[in-house]
Amino acid sequence: LTVSITGATGFIGRRLVQRLHADKHNIRVLTRSKSKAELIFPAREFPGIMIAEEPGWKDCIQGSDGVVNLAGMPISTRWSSEIKKEIKQSRIRVTSKVVSLINDAPDAARPTVLVSATAVGYYGTSETATFDERSPSGNDYLAEVCREWEATALGVNKNVRVALIRIGVVLGKEGGALAKMIPLFMMFAGGPLGSGKQWFSWIHLDDIVNLIYEALINPSYQGVINGTAPNPVTLGELCKGLGAEMGRPSWLPVPDFALKAVLGEGASVLEGQRVVPTRAKELGFSYKYPSVKDALKSILS
Ligand code: NDP
Repeated sequence: LTVSITGATGFIGRRLVQRLHADKHNIRVLTRSKSKAELIFPAREFPGIMIAEEPGWKDCIQGSDGVVNLAGMPISTRWSSEIKKEIKQSRIRVTSKVVSLINDAPDAARPTVLVSATAVGYYGTSETATFDERSPSGNDYLAEVCREWEATALGVNKNVRVALIRIGVVLGKEGGALAKMIPLFMMFAGGPLGSGKQWFSWIHLDDIVNLIYEALINPSYQGVINGTAPNPVTLGELCKGLGAEMGRPSWLPVPDFALKAVLGEGASVLEGQRVVPTRAKELGFSYKYPSVKDALKSILS
């Protein structure tokens, strides 16, 4: 396949590129900074990879079989009103660009699938409810961002298959929320974060990459699909698991102020929601890391 990817230089994107490259697919990286992307994907390691800044995205998308859309300003920062606006606008901007380039492509050169990221923030937060793909959207800011982000992706030509992946908190060695949480956890001897009762709908980096890969190649993957592991945990349970893996007791709660200091208002992802992957199960998706224990073991080893 030939696949164009926005956000390819990010935490999930890098691993996706490695995976597609290992399977001999042709990769086109759509980035804001060609020089940055060339450092991340050096030609000697990724021969044949195409890297383009605007206005070169058009030539990449035309003739691609599929497009994966991952770009967006990171949410785990301090939220000034400007940053808050950019968290939404960056996603809408890139997504609508991608959608119009797909729509404007001549029929013969139009990609047949768009796999577009969104987030479990779509559902809002709750300590008691369980959400799946049929659940309604929440009413906080991140829910609004996700709704508009998804609606923009759905503006694509009706002949293009769309898979919207509502991604949970991705756990991996190289980055993401966990990398930021671990030092805090060490500092506070590793107790629950905040009250510890908040739900944490996580997924291992390898599994989210496999799910995106599957959505690219398998025509049954259509519409909204939750990108979460089958066994969400509470933050308390996550911290217990972290403590066990790191050989540290888990008893002092990490205070909210410390969480906010490293994650900013992005710490609101830790207010959490319990999201289950009903569609992925129906589709027969096979998880490499269904349990948080195994996921943490693989990451912390
Ligand atoms: P990263 O933050 O690691 O990377 C996102 C990429 O988006 C960057 O590499 C960058 O690519 C591009 N980007 C960053 N800021 C902007 C901006 N202001 N305008 C346009 N493009 C920008 O994201 P992840 O890999 O962690 O996640 C990928 C997507 O999945 C994101 O949209 C994220 O919201 C979503 N998601 C991730 C979760 C997670 O736990 N990681 C959880 C839920 C959803 P470049 O510089 O090459 O243009």
